[in-house]
Amino acid sequence: MSQSSGKNQHVAVLAFPFGCHPWPLLNLASRLASAAPDVSFSFLNTAKSNQKLSATSGVHLPHNLKSYDVADGVPEGHVLTPGNPLEEVELFLEAAPESFRKGIDMAVAETGQQKITCILNDAFLVFGCDMAADMHVKWAPLYVPAPYDLSAHIYSALIHETYAKACGGGEVHGNGGAVGDLNPIDKTLDAIPGLSAMRFGDLPQEILQGNHSNSSSIFARTLRRIWEVLPRANAVVMNSFQELNSTILTDDLKSKFQDILYVGFLTLIVPTPPLPPSHSDATGCLPWLDEQKPTSVAYISFGTVAAVPPHEFAALAEALEASCVPFLWSLRENFKAFLPNGFLERTRKQGKIVPWAPQAHVLSHKAVGVYVTHCGYNSVFESIVGEVPMICRPILGDNKMNGRMVEDVWEIGVRVEGGVFTKKGMVKSLELVLGHGQHGRRMREKIRDLKELVVKAAGPDGIASKDFKTLLELISQ
Ligand code: UDP
Repeated sequence: MSQSSGKNQHVAVLAFPFGCHPWPLLNLASRLASAAPDVSFSFLNTAKSNQKLSATSGVHLPHNLKSYDVADGVPEGHVLTPGNPLEEVELFLEAAPESFRKGIDMAVAETGQQKITCILNDAFLVFGCDMAADMHVKWAPLYVPAPYDLSAHIYSALIHETYAKACGGGEVHGNGGAVGDLNPIDKTLDAIPGLSAMRFGDLPQEILQGNHSNSSSIFARTLRRIWEVLPRANAVVMNSFQELNSTILTDDLKSKFQDILYVGFLTLIVPTPPLPPSHSDATGCLPWLDEQKPTSVAYISFGTVAAVPPHEFAALAEALEASCVPFLWSLRENFKAFLPNGFLERTRKQGKIVPWAPQAHVLSHKAVGVYVTHCGYNSVFESIVGEVPMICRPILGDNKMNGRMVEDVWEIGVRVEGGVFTKKGMVKSLELVLGHGQHGRRMREKIRDLKELVVKAAGPDGIASKDFKTLLELISQ
């Protein structure tokens, strides 16, 4: 790209301010802004999410990337219902088109009336499509979850229909149960290109339930609309390396969009730079890990939103205590109440609990031997790059599909026995992954091979490098 080609270009970057979503988008915007110093970038996000990002992302914003706060949609004086995280999402989405329009006006005014020339937004903000069309600007949505999750959403009508038929033509209920005595939850999705390793039971609830899902929910409607709008994008950007996905899946997705660009994992730098000095880690995780034996520690985290039921927290804690495995647990403060009585005192020497860990660094530390995970897409790849096999307890969204890939396709982890944490099952899984048996050894070999593939894909000859340049050209011209 010539130095002058980006002049007068202004990219509005619109964040979905929940879960892990803002991090990959900010990292992408930051990489683009560094590579296109003449282009202006305005990152629009709620104040709450922006604060969290600046406290945890470690990203130093380039001079041409400015961050702005937009309204969160929560009416003044409204008290959010505890234990109902969806309420905040719904209020935000209801107000989002207007909030972002105002945010864009503010960014245009502050950059000296530099008009927006491109919208780069989280694909969950489906209104970005109409907004870009109204403004006559280019549109590039970022899809944060896994490519096979996108595929499942694209084929959701067919999947729902096939599933309903397999259930005896009746109405589909809840978690894989069906009217009548047929339960096809374990059937593979052979009819869907690239999804033959998946089972119906691995799919997100909203797909299995089809139009029966809570249609009064704007979030459910939004997820269903993604497929309708993405084909109108100039390019769909994927938080993934193309080389890691099957050719069938890649080719099929390519056929659905004007362009699809795989820019690599956006919460990671590959190959990983050396870890920062341990003393600079304010959470204390890295210094604590320095004191542990190589590949001995179980790191536990269920990401930014997911939580297991209280009795499973207790079972997991009991298993850790019984196994005597050193552990580092990223546990949100409100879940500590679910730990068994006296657990914190008894395990003070054995483990460390923090409300937030520098996860990508933790998983690259040589002391970590297993990651007990909910199988969030970013977490799974942070584990792969850190060469840490996983014990999987998928919880929501694309988690079960990721878990299926980890256990059955890549063979770099195991799902917990019976799909839920029990003391006995978890002790067994820890022994299996951390022990010196054949199964554990084989997982570690497989994960090293997969990491090599990732490092190659992230290199100068990988598709991510080419696709990133294409995206750079799209936003700068
Ligand atoms: N994360 C972190 N520290 C924590 C918990 C999570 O840095 O203590 C980061 C993690 O590294 C990952 C993201 O939060 O990049 C979680 O994303 P993922 O897709 O795995 O799960 P989600 O939160 O979307 O369920």
